[in-house]
Amino acid sequence: LGEFGLLDQLGKKIPSAKVPVGIGDDAAVLTLRPDRWILATTDTLVEEVHFSRSWATAWQIGYKSLAVNLSDVAAMGGIPAYALVSLALPPSLEVSWVESFYEGLAACAARWNVEVVGGDTVAAREIVITVTLLGEAEPHRALTRSAGRPGDLVLVTGDLGASAAGLEELRTPRLKDHQTRELACQRHLLPVPRVEEGCLLSAFPGVGAVIDLSDGLAQALREIARASSVGAEIYADRLPITPATREVAAYHGKDPLWYAVYGGEDYELLFTARPAQAVRLREKIQTRCGTPVTVIGCLLPPEEGLILWRNGDRQSIGRGYDHFQPRTDL
Ligand SMILES: [Mg+2]
Repeated sequence: LGEFGLLDQLGKKIPSAKVPVGIGDDAAVLTLRPDRWILATTDTLVEEVHFSRSWATAWQIGYKSLAVNLSDVAAMGGIPAYALVSLALPPSLEVSWVESFYEGLAACAARWNVEVVGGDTVAAREIVITVTLLGEAEPHRALTRSAGRPGDLVLVTGDLGASAAGLEELRTPRLKDHQTRELACQRHLLPVPRVEEGCLLSAFPGVGAVIDLSDGLAQALREIARASSVGAEIYADRLPITPATREVAAYHGKDPLWYAVYGGEDYELLFTARPAQAVRLREKIQTRCGTPVTVIGCLLPPEEGLILWRNGDRQSIGRGYDHFQPRTDL
């Protein structure tokens, strides 16, 4: 059934709420008053599924558990505000671990002006962390996955595959070059949510669908395709992949394109824009935030499906690549 199949099934069990945006986007949009739009999102991290104490410090895990939620608010074009933190902790866990976890979380909260306002703590066999984040969006300006149109260009902030490369290196250290190793691992351990970039997108005309890259480019494209009823083509040679990511891939005998397309947790923003606005939009984000933005493809009519062009060769994303199985363990 898979995670996404399960979500589909469960969604049918819950009557759809009367909110501007409900289940199925990066965050829900709630309206307690018509002139205020509240964003709500939550994410759970489980020990040995999403992180391991053998390669991540408590501080890093605390920082990341909030950062991944910030990324979802960013994908809605919102401003994060309040967080709730629930922890399931083994009774044997040292207090110093929990203290360090909160220091990391607090550092992330301070950087993005988020206040931690509550939560819950229970005992369990392994560490389970749930962070719920509330934010705000301009009424009728929240970005969604469903506003893409055939003909839109597909753009992405930053670069792709670095987090998956970092995870590979964290699990199986092989790199000799310390600096490259640190660079790759940092991207997995301490992702930078694109909050400012999301706010800029929400104020800009001509923006289509927006999603954050938590489960990889291929999965994000599937989500946009489904929500916007579109197809898409992506050009492999345009994908922004850093030399560090390529170096890790080489050391591990992997294809860097695999990291970029199917690796998860880059927490970049993937968005579409009308071609007439795309260049200005890209320049605006680059000048205001210093974040590179790359055009990597365009949206097509839905019957075209999802296509990856590589060296003039047309491949279906998720199907044509038999050796490319989407990762479910990220
Ligand atoms: Mg998301």
